Amino acid sequence: MAVRLLVPSVALAVLLLSVFFAQRDATSTLSQNVRAQAWAEQGVSRDYQSLTLLLDMETGVRGFLLTHDRQFLEPWLSARTAFPASSSVLVGLEAHRGTVELGLAKRIESGGESYIRDFAVPEIRAVEANPRSGVSLAAAAVEGKRRVDALRVMYTELIKLDEQPAAPAEQRAQAAAGRASGYELAGLAAALVLLVVSAVYLRRGVLGPIRRVGNVADEMAAGDLSVRVEPASAAELSRLAGSFNAMADALRDGHERLEDQAADLRRSEAFLDSMLEHIPNMLFVKDASDLRFVRFNRAGEQLLGYSRDELIGKSVYDLFAADEADFFTTQDRDALASGLPLDIPEDPIRTRRDGVRYLHTKKIPVLDERGEPQYLLGISEDVTERKRADEVVREAREQAERANRAKSEFLSRMSHELRTPLTSILGFGQLLEMDGVSESQREPIHYILESGRHLLQLINEVLDISRIETGGLTIHPEPVAVRALLRDVVAIVAPIAAERSVRVETVPPEPDCHVMADPQRLKQVLLNLLSNAIKYNRDAGEVMIVCERAGPNLRIHVRDTGRGIPADRLSEAFTPFERLGAEHDDIEGTGLGLALSDHLMEIMGGTLTVQSEPGVGSTFTAQLKLAAGVDQGDAVDGTVEIPKHDQLDASPAVRLLYVEDDIANIKLVERVLQRRPAITVEATGQGRLGIELARHDPPDVMVLDLHLPDLTGEQVLAALRSDARTEHIPVIILTADASADRATRLRDLGADAYLTKPLDVPRFLAAVDELLLTGALIPQ
Ligand code: ADP
Repeated sequence: MAVRLLVPSVALAVLLLSVFFAQRDATSTLSQNVRAQAWAEQGVSRDYQSLTLLLDMETGVRGFLLTHDRQFLEPWLSARTAFPASSSVLVGLEAHRGTVELGLAKRIESGGESYIRDFAVPEIRAVEANPRSGVSLAAAAVEGKRRVDALRVMYTELIKLDEQPAAPAEQRAQAAAGRASGYELAGLAAALVLLVVSAVYLRRGVLGPIRRVGNVADEMAAGDLSVRVEPASAAELSRLAGSFNAMADALRDGHERLEDQAADLRRSEAFLDSMLEHIPNMLFVKDASDLRFVRFNRAGEQLLGYSRDELIGKSVYDLFAADEADFFTTQDRDALASGLPLDIPEDPIRTRRDGVRYLHTKKIPVLDERGEPQYLLGISEDVTERKRADEVVREAREQAERANRAKSEFLSRMSHELRTPLTSILGFGQLLEMDGVSESQREPIHYILESGRHLLQLINEVLDISRIETGGLTIHPEPVAVRALLRDVVAIVAPIAAERSVRVETVPPEPDCHVMADPQRLKQVLLNLLSNAIKYNRDAGEVMIVCERAGPNLRIHVRDTGRGIPADRLSEAFTPFERLGAEHDDIEGTGLGLALSDHLMEIMGGTLTVQSEPGVGSTFTAQLKLAAGVDQGDAVDGTVEIPKHDQLDASPAVRLLYVEDDIANIKLVERVLQRRPAITVEATGQGRLGIELARHDPPDVMVLDLHLPDLTGEQVLAALRSDARTEHIPVIILTADASADRATRLRDLGADAYLTKPLDVPRFLAAVDELLLTGALIPQ
């Protein structure tokens, strides 16, 4: 490379130098010419001065020789001293003279010096010493003249030459100029050659490699990163090629890395794409700004019946009716405005081929890094089939419910039909028992009542179980004060415990302890557990009721010291009609109590469990959720107390109107109320008539059956409560319908008491007494 740059540089330098020298020569020739001219003029005058000195010497010498007069020697003496200097001056002009003139000057100088030294001095000395010495003056003069003439010829020649200085100076100048232009041409030629050479060098050694680098760069730009520049011979270009190749390597490495990354990206994109494609739900992406589709998966194409090409770039207005599109767009805008996912559980959409489909859609705004919505991602699941299946299920359920209702209805009717005769059996049986019978009648009456009660219990429990199974039994959970409830149930079972000398002990919870339960149903469960604990206990055994808090729950353990249940039969205790052998003993029961209790606990959100050890005893545990933060005043106290009042016997006449279509029941109530002589009973079998009678002559109290031939008991009650004349009359509902719902409904309508058939005589009397005792109701 150095050589390649050196050659053109040298060529250029030579060219410049030749021009410089030529220029300088020309300039110096010119100045020489000027100087030569000046020197020529000087030379001529010196020539003349020198010649004059010579002639002065010769004239002086000749005059002295002729006259011996010393005054002729004065010019000789001064010329003799001045001449050498002047002749040497002539020689000293040599630099400004040609060689010819110089030769002449030198000859003049030596001729003059020899004249002064060899000729004049000896003769002059001789004459001075002896003026008559006989020196041949003529010969000396002639000799002097000869020498001077010879010198004069030389002077003349020199002067002639000096007088023509211009001609040779010009020639010299021209020669110099010729020389100069010769150098210049030579230099130019050399420079040209060198330039050509360097051009070739440049082309081959510099431009060629550079072009090759350029070509390789072009090929690389075209995509071939494997090409490389061959190393050039010049070190710099070789380095350049090396650097270029290193750069190309780095580029290729980078490119390969990029390609690897791009391949990775493509792979993961392909992976994601295939995932999206395989998602069985419709997936779409809309641009947040114009809500046009930018992406769709296969499930989406299949669902809508449009190809991706038909969907991308379109908006819902291109695909659906305007009102439908408006609806979708509103949803989209809502989701984008809130920045939160929107869940649309069920949306109909008109598809191209499949008609209307129902979609469960989630619309999710996709935000950019500044939090601005960029896309809207939609995921839709076709729930049409599920919706249809749901509809089928719903229909089936409705059918089942209808069937259940029919069953319930049937059971309710059956229970009513069974209760009605039972009412007579139990009612008259109780009256007989109360009125006092002979010893021989006592036992049969006892059996009649026992069997009647058993049948009644059976009916009630079967009804309850069937209601639970059909979902017809509704409960009303509320905070129930456990302590009071336990006191109540213990009081109820106290007589049967006393019969068997079984001691019942209670470890109650704190007074404000409440559980969430339906109070009537919890009472029913506890009564069942307690009566079992007494029934299946040994005589003089023990029953312990222990309450225990367990986290958010309360456990009520009913522990007995009875015969226990074998471990392998424990689970059967909850099977309906399963009595575990008790049926062979003389212990009364239906085998339904535990099954019903278990169901009741379950629908109240609790559990019923049992632990037992044969021969030692059993523990039944009812667990329920504790009711948090209950004000005791709000809680339901399970206790229902109906005080007994006998003062009514002395009261003035009281009129009771009984609306009932069953004669046996009317007779029974009349017979029962004979125990209250102050009360006279009027009866009617029609609802409307009952209302009319009440309006015309309001009775002091009414007893109302619910199943009347013309109206329902609810209608009668509503009519009574809506009329100023009858709204204050106390009403006791007496019905075979034992459902709690019905009882609640009637209480809400304004019933004062709700009693079920078969008639519990003492309870009925207590209710009548209670109502008639409340102040103003007692006629004056
Ligand atoms: P019932 O008492 O009317 O027979 P239950 O459903 O209440 O029906 O009880 C089912 C059976 O479980 C009973 O017949 C009895 O054999 C057994 N059982 C229930 N409670 C106890 C108990 N505390 N001790 C021993 N056996 C019991």
